[in-house]
Amino acid sequence: KSGFVAIVGRPNVGKSTLLNRVVGQKVAIMSDKAQTTRNKIQGIYTTDEAQIVFIDTPGIHKPKSELGDFMVQSALSSLNEVDAVLMMVNATQKRGAGDNFIIDRLKSVKQPVYLVINKIDQVKPDDLLTVIEQYKDALPWQEVVPISALEGNNVVEMLEKIIDTL
Ligand code: GDP
Ligand code: MG
Repeated sequence: KSGFVAIVGRPNVGKSTLLNRVVGQKVAIMSDKAQTTRNKIQGIYTTDEAQIVFIDTPGIHKPKSELGDFMVQSALSSLNEVDAVLMMVNATQKRGAGDNFIIDRLKSVKQPVYLVINKIDQVKPDDLLTVIEQYKDALPWQEVVPISALEGNNVVEMLEKIIDTL
């Protein structure tokens, strides 16, 4: 099994931390030129049975200019070229305008979209339930997965869920 998975989310939610945790190989064959916003291959997660190619999509946020708007559109179109999307949010913060902007844009994505609630090492169980409540009806999520990218909690389980649907 193999597939492409894009990670989206506001700055500082922990996208790079997750990638650093799960990814063993950097993609050496990609030239700097190929590292565009549109297809920024960040690394590959490999097991005996599966391979996931991760694409970091930092370009999806509220644009401040027309060029910015072009970048957002470009980043969004890359989401139609992947097999699944991970929408990452921060468990320690309330759902905000930055999250809503991305969620609105994910409404047209046909592929499975996972809600990944990160930084659960920093919240009490009750507060995690409150965060889940804030997001659970925002999109028809494939799964809602709480993790700690930093400490590794539930990360392998999340990867196995993704692999199951590839
Ligand atoms: P990105 O902008 O989405 O790529 O976010 P980064 O991966 O750069 O992370 C932003 C900050 O959040 C860094 O200081 C990380 O160490 C921290 N961080 C990321 N994941 C976790 C987590 O699961 N728990 C905690 N406590 N901090 C985290
Ligand atoms: Mg980053």
